[in-house]
Amino acid sequence: MKRVQSEGKMKKIGFIGLGAMGNHMARNLTKKGFAVTVYDLNPEAVQSLVNAGAKAAESCAAAAQNADIVITVLPADRHMKAVMMNDNGVFQGASPGTTIIDMTTLSPHTSIEVAAEAQKRGLFFLDAPVSGGTIGAEKGTLTIMVGGEKQLFEQVRDVLEAMGKTIYHVGGIGIGETVKMVNQILVACNMLAISEAFVLGVKLGADPDTLLNVIKVSAGNSFLIEHRLPNYVFPGDFEQPGFALDLLRKDVGIAMDSAREEKVAISLTSIVYQMLTQASSAGFGNMDMSSVIKVVESSAGVSVRKTTKTED
Ligand code: NAD
Repeated sequence: MKRVQSEGKMKKIGFIGLGAMGNHMARNLTKKGFAVTVYDLNPEAVQSLVNAGAKAAESCAAAAQNADIVITVLPADRHMKAVMMNDNGVFQGASPGTTIIDMTTLSPHTSIEVAAEAQKRGLFFLDAPVSGGTIGAEKGTLTIMVGGEKQLFEQVRDVLEAMGKTIYHVGGIGIGETVKMVNQILVACNMLAISEAFVLGVKLGADPDTLLNVIKVSAGNSFLIEHRLPNYVFPGDFEQPGFALDLLRKDVGIAMDSAREEKVAISLTSIVYQMLTQASSAGFGNMDMSSVIKVVESSAGVSVRKTTKTED
């Protein structure tokens, strides 16, 4: 069966989902010379890509038509399934031999299910979730964890390299999402641990800047400490582009479902899920996920917010 048809930089790409992440990722593909056709429910997002040199499609099916590769970067499982399988979806537009690369963070079961449906239609599928945030998406430095056939992965490596810096083939279909799930458990638990530790320290009289400076060079340091505290928490600016709290809650929910099915007790993660739910119902769902600290601050009656932005 024929696979990727166009050679080198001329591969034709249909790109669906131009949000906080996809917008930058599609832009980087266009900059690298790929022929990109885009679709999103939001016409402004489509227009911004057209201004950057992409072509606009009228539907998911139209974005997939004539594409060698279709990339999706959507919020969650139900959006990805709808984009693939609904009327006017990718499955309707794509010709046999097309490769679908789904870069949404979703359940490994969904990847396996959709990959099987794709295969019935002569389409190829890779699950390729990402890490690195909107900054990584913009700079083209994402970490990409890919599940699926190794040979297929090698055929699309140049496309992945236009969006990411560290690209791993991690196993069969669904294992990309499994590796991403492990990362998201660590992100969520770490963000809550940072919130509780800093709130308690400040309540006891420690200065937030001093805490940050000392912890940054101590064993408790982490990527989130170095990035989220100075850029989001200290300035109290949770509405700037980032990683929505509801998306992290979705990711931890996927981990909870998988743990239930596999009978693995993930007690700490369960508590963190409840804290994210509390933050979401308090109205922070669309804010950056570091806004979960506000729940901890409010129960302690103290804020770690600074009036000036601290350097990274
Ligand atoms: P987002 O909500 O900003 O973007 C999603 C886009 O999909 C939106 O533009 C929306 O209009 C579009 N969309 C939804 N349904 C559609 C449909 N039926 N047809 C066409 N377009 C549709 O989300 P995001 O922050 O870009 O995240 C995308 C994925 O990447 C999520 O799974 C998220 O968990 C994951 N992720 C996000 C980050 C981050 O920092 N934001 C980091 C790593 C991974």
